[in-house]
Amino acid sequence: MSAVHPPSVERVLAAARPHVAAGTDPEALTAAARALVAEERAALAEGAAPRNAETLGGILVARLAAWTDPRASGLVPVLNATGVLLHTNLGRAAWPLAAIEAATLAAGSPVLLEMDRATGRRGPRSRLAEEHLVALTGAEDALVTVNTAAALALAVGLAGRRGVAVSRGELVEIGGGVRIPEIIRRAGARLVEVGTTNRTRAADFAEPLASGRVAVVLRVHSSNFRIEGFTEAPDPAELAALAHRHDAIVIDDVGSGAFLDTAVFGLAHEPMPAERIAAGADLVTFSGDKLLGGPQAGPIVGRAELIARLRRDPLARAVRPDKVTLAALAATLGIWRAGRARTEIPLWRQAGVSLAELDRRAAALVAALAAAGHAAEARPVRATVGGGSLPGETLPSVALAIGGRGANALATRLRAGDPAVVARVEEGALLADLRTIEPADDPRLLAALLAALRP
Ligand SMILES: *Cc1c(COP(=O)(O)O)cnc(C)c1O
Repeated sequence: MSAVHPPSVERVLAAARPHVAAGTDPEALTAAARALVAEERAALAEGAAPRNAETLGGILVARLAAWTDPRASGLVPVLNATGVLLHTNLGRAAWPLAAIEAATLAAGSPVLLEMDRATGRRGPRSRLAEEHLVALTGAEDALVTVNTAAALALAVGLAGRRGVAVSRGELVEIGGGVRIPEIIRRAGARLVEVGTTNRTRAADFAEPLASGRVAVVLRVHSSNFRIEGFTEAPDPAELAALAHRHDAIVIDDVGSGAFLDTAVFGLAHEPMPAERIAAGADLVTFSGDKLLGGPQAGPIVGRAELIARLRRDPLARAVRPDKVTLAALAATLGIWRAGRARTEIPLWRQAGVSLAELDRRAAALVAALAAAGHAAEARPVRATVGGGSLPGETLPSVALAIGGRGANALATRLRAGDPAVVARVEEGALLADLRTIEPADDPRLLAALLAALRP
């Protein structure tokens, strides 16, 4: 068997050069050509059909174009038809328009990030998001970190080498394999376990606090699981009062960060940061991209003296967000403060859509599919909040159901389409939940379905 050689790097470059954008760095072009020729050599060794220099040159040009195409970033935009409002694998919350615009402006221009406008001197890092947080939670001060795991790691460092007391019912894994005991250990503090898995009372904290072993009492909201039956958790105000009698700091990780009463949507009530501040927590941590509905961030709100200590911690620098996140978060919080969350934040707008409206949209889509010869029906389903929030809680919704064999293959074709659609398959039917689709995207959903159903 005679070895087949790929075209030389020089010949591939000669074929590509006339079609490459002016100003392209020749070294980058050569490196890409070498990689492509190496791939071709490997493919030939596997028995692939040889390709000539012209073909490889064309592939090289297309590759460079794709690398500079923002739509080909690998973070492919999808239509979320899963019925999970905050889908962690789909990047949780879609930002409100104001946050997108603020982020774009901040990204594309120098900004007054750390400059005092009046004096032109260095000033504190932009505090707008923190000012909104103070106004929205009633806390004395606020500090924004990159996510809640970071906020927690920074906050529990206040214990120094002393103990962090946590109820055994709250020693949880918060996702991505991150566990509360490990966060405490990495911060250099000691974990002091209190109570039992199902029942812990404020009185269980009395002895560890009285012994002086404990500098921080940490509460962690059970945001992604539920314990039912014979359970008890300490009352936040009672526990805070007890901790304060022993000069301990109370940190309350509520995780989800609801700034509205989720009960108005028929969901269980999620703890709100303002409630926990009012109940005596010294610091409260939560997420920017869960129920707040904005960018990934980990705000900490609470007592000014403690926030000042956190700001001085070198770790604060390691977990500080960039200008784009700060701009998007400030815009999202501005919407909350202006009372516009239920209309302008996609998460809450979608949660608030009426069943009648979903029925109407489903009927229109069913009719359009029928006109093209495809059978589908509108089916009542339950949507969930997701993102590690409100476990077991559901919202009534309506899905387009497409039955028959091949529902899994249809779901695969939808993910591969343009626009890509992520739907779910249940009992042999493909379900496209309309609650998590923006109404303006219904025509795109229809086009994607028609393309995927084409024989
Ligand atoms: C989600 C969650 C976290 C982690 O939040 P990230 O912003 O994803 O880091 C921490 N604690 C609780 C209680 C949570 O629900």
